[in-house]
Amino acid sequence: PQTTQERHPDASDVPDVPDARAVVATARATFDRGVTKPRAWRVAQLQALRRLLVEHADDLAAALHTDLGKGATEAWVTETGFVVREIDHTLRHLRSWLAPSRVRVPLFLAPSRAEVVLEPLGVVLVVAPWNYPVQLTLAPLVGALAAGNAVVVKPSEVAPATSATLARLLREHLDRDAVHVVEGGVPETTALLAERFDHIFYTGNGTVGRIVLQAAAVHLTPVTLELGGKSPAYVADDADLEVTARRLVWGKFTNAGQTCVAPDYVIASRATLEALKPLLVKAIRESFGDDPQVSADYGTIVSARHLERLTGLIDPSRVVVGGRSDAAARYLEPTVVEADGDDPDEAVMQEEIFGPVLPLVEVAGLDEAVALVNRRDKPLALYVFTSDDDVQRRFVRDTSSGAVGVNIPLAHLAVPGLPFGGVGASGTGAYHGRRSVELFSHAKAVLRTPTRPDSTSWVRPPFTRLKERVI
Ligand code: NAD
Repeated sequence: PQTTQERHPDASDVPDVPDARAVVATARATFDRGVTKPRAWRVAQLQALRRLLVEHADDLAAALHTDLGKGATEAWVTETGFVVREIDHTLRHLRSWLAPSRVRVPLFLAPSRAEVVLEPLGVVLVVAPWNYPVQLTLAPLVGALAAGNAVVVKPSEVAPATSATLARLLREHLDRDAVHVVEGGVPETTALLAERFDHIFYTGNGTVGRIVLQAAAVHLTPVTLELGGKSPAYVADDADLEVTARRLVWGKFTNAGQTCVAPDYVIASRATLEALKPLLVKAIRESFGDDPQVSADYGTIVSARHLERLTGLIDPSRVVVGGRSDAAARYLEPTVVEADGDDPDEAVMQEEIFGPVLPLVEVAGLDEAVALVNRRDKPLALYVFTSDDDVQRRFVRDTSSGAVGVNIPLAHLAVPGLPFGGVGASGTGAYHGRRSVELFSHAKAVLRTPTRPDSTSWVRPPFTRLKERVI
């Protein structure tokens, strides 16, 4: 059967979204014409995207403010400027990343030449979430374009102002035949997922991740899943607690906690937790003032539904600081709570919090902390606050997570040479920088052998003792 003709087995359940089919067909026809392959086209698209980001930084900041209450500086540092840095890094290295890489050939194939050639995959689908709606839509796009693909982008409907702004700007600035934006929610994404892509890059929650994998299985499409989970932060007894408190507050309350790599909960000994509490309170006040609701640097919760979910996680009897909310303003105060860690009824330690609530969990010591991490799903990030090399090495060696940050949360994803991705329940596949170009390419093996001298005489019958020894 023609794989291109294959449809989702439940085609009758696929919503009738006329756009999806036509969009993918146009993208594929453009790829098939070879438009996206030349390096010059890729560079031109990345430069156009860079111009869009710089010239329209204010439009994007306004949209991010509407959707998430992000301040303009935060919007630039964590979203728009982040993508600009990713583009600059890619443009600087693209030529060398794309160069075929020679590999050694075994002696019996001499004088052959073997090399690995990166070829574009074809049409890539990027499905993005709402929490960093510019970064998480465009950073994968940078990699997909740099690798020479046509791309269909589906921004999150949960951040509608940003989705609309991105759709308008991408249509105005990029090659309209090769880069398509489909706006919408579940029906539109479902319709897209019924089409055949050459790669699907999904960022979001694990429940939808499973839906994406199932849809991809129909077409044997490879999938990258950038998921979430509860990222722990272990604070050792020797940690510099003042700096630790400041960095935890920054990592946790940036974007009002709606960050996939935010420290989800803190683990430490009782004595360290007691010493940490007043420092956390102080650091919150230093960052956001006496009333964070009026701080330009403190965000809002994305929707009423999410605010309700978050307030439901707070047990008022266990609040250390915060807890106040204002539904009309989609506001939840930076909140620190006490938690148990192993109590199955405790809501705050069940699911990923994804909001400004920081539980403090007591453990007896290092072994118990490592055991607690290992009892749970593999997290997207793990943070260790310590000056003791043995402590941080213990976590690197004896636990599994997408990344480890020693004495610093979040920042590993700003290092373009580091792969960004999860493991196990927090995702499969990683991107950023060179990894993105490799992710959206096929590493094709090419072996070139001259006809004379005819090296295949060694592998062809009649076989002799000498041939056996040489091969
Ligand atoms: P979301 O609700 O915006 O959903 C993500 C995307 O999935 C959207 O484009 C949405 O339209 C689509 N979608 C939703 N339901 C669907 C369905 N039934 N079928 C097909 N598509 C569907 O975002 P979210 O999932 O709430 O995002 C939050 C989660 O994402 C958290 O778990 C967070 O940790 C994780 N996350 C991970 C990363 C990462 O880089 N690993 C980054 C950000 C967020």
